[in-house]
Amino acid sequence: MLSHLIFIMLLTTKLREVTIINDCIFCKIVRNEIPSTIVYEDDRVLVFEDINPRAPVHVLVIPKDHIASMNEVNAANADLLGYMMSVIPQIAAQKGIAESGYRVITNTGAEGGQIVHHLHFHLLGGRQLKGLG
Ligand code: 5GP
Ligand code: ZN
Repeated sequence: MLSHLIFIMLLTTKLREVTIINDCIFCKIVRNEIPSTIVYEDDRVLVFEDINPRAPVHVLVIPKDHIASMNEVNAANADLLGYMMSVIPQIAAQKGIAESGYRVITNTGAEGGQIVHHLHFHLLGGRQLKGLG
């Protein structure tokens, strides 16, 4: 009886995960179901132009695997996060803002201003950026 209950709980969790990944707008971009202007891509990371740019350079750096937010970052995916960080200066150089300067932002949760619940780093530059918050 208990094993049945555990099985149903695991199945429900898995189904919830599959639904999230199916519906997630950035997972759809990864799967090419929604068009995007890709700046860089490899097996782990995708970088694409933000649809509503807030600066002359505004790209989003995302993991291809679904991670909802910074709240899901932990020792198990720290390598991937470190790798994403290593991609950012390459993109900054490619976009010609490495020397002029840029900002990397990740919004987390409601008060952090997170709208898309797939971890992403905004890379902003190409003009003098103003204060935070
Ligand atoms: P957040 O507020 O979650 O940190 O930022 C989400 C970002 O994703 C926003 O800057 C928004 O313009 C961008 N965005 C939302 N939907 C799409 C989309 O379908 N395509 C692209 N390229 N960017 C999107
Ligand atoms: Zn996703």
